Amino acid sequence: MTQEYFQFYDDRRMGIKTADGKIIIPAQYDFVSAISDGLFNVQSGHRVAYFDKNGDTYLPFDDKYESYGDFTEGLARVRKNERWGYINKRGNEVIPTQFHYAAGFSNEMAIVRNELGLHGAIDKEGNIIIGYKFKELRNFENGYAKFRDREAWGVINKEGSVIIEQQYSFIEIIDNENFIVQLKEGDHYKEGTLKIGNGVLWNHNLDDVNDFNRRQKAFLDECEALIEETYTEGCPCEYKRFRTFIEWNRPICFIDQELLFSVFSKRLMVLGNDELECPKCGTRYRQKWDQYSAFLWVLNVVIVGLGNFISKVAEVSATVPVALGFRGYNTDGLTEMYVQTDIGTVINYLKGV
Ligand SMILES: [Zn+2]
Repeated sequence: MTQEYFQFYDDRRMGIKTADGKIIIPAQYDFVSAISDGLFNVQSGHRVAYFDKNGDTYLPFDDKYESYGDFTEGLARVRKNERWGYINKRGNEVIPTQFHYAAGFSNEMAIVRNELGLHGAIDKEGNIIIGYKFKELRNFENGYAKFRDREAWGVINKEGSVIIEQQYSFIEIIDNENFIVQLKEGDHYKEGTLKIGNGVLWNHNLDDVNDFNRRQKAFLDECEALIEETYTEGCPCEYKRFRTFIEWNRPICFIDQELLFSVFSKRLMVLGNDELECPKCGTRYRQKWDQYSAFLWVLNVVIVGLGNFISKVAEVSATVPVALGFRGYNTDGLTEMYVQTDIGTVINYLKGV
């Protein structure tokens, strides 16, 4: 059974202990890496050492290099005078520092970058096996590496031959012959499993995403039509329900509100300080972002100056129906909600019809 090691802090110093609490490296250092290739990378000021699994010194503290990477497949990347090379486990520089960037080894290969920002790959002797020609090249996994030099991803093998053409918005290497790929065709996404030599078997995993995007686009179109229409005879501010929805300060289906406001705000004059004014009636809106959780930011709009308008609809309660449109997040529990109301109903509600 592989022993698990955990980084821990004590008085802002770092060390390593095991799952059962045994201290392997006391918390005396600026940084201690997770274990990699059997060794811990230990930093103290400018100096770096490598310790073994027992916490004993494997390579003593040194500051010969500006930077020391973790060991992978027997080598660690190091930097001197802004150039990267590799040392072996005896601390000898076996691949001279020369690269503008160098990654750790995987599948006996390491990704390196030249002065033009292009990536290639080297073997363990430092020979360039794959020439510098990729804007982006990821580490090898199962004998393959993902690359891209425009929007789409492709895959090369260890000889540098393209085995999956650069056309997918996402690729995951599963094993030595299977990949998950995603393709974007217009506004439509599809996902499938690609097996080398067999093409792609498409699945329906992204149907929900496409459905959501389609509904969102439809709602956006309707919002544009609503704003357009209301401005021909007056302005949207005249509709009390529209205002209530726009300035609702505790949104649940916030995407709807954001979308509607993003369309509406294009018609407003920008006054600065995130304040906007309706050119027709003078109502002033202020927008701000509220953080509801570590992940969720919600657009909040308040009316800071009421314009000159005649309310076209009867008063409504301050509570807006939970779902005026489609997908949103419940701000209390971050549980995804999905309540679909047809767009006509939504738009008519906003207009107070
Ligand atoms: Zn107005």
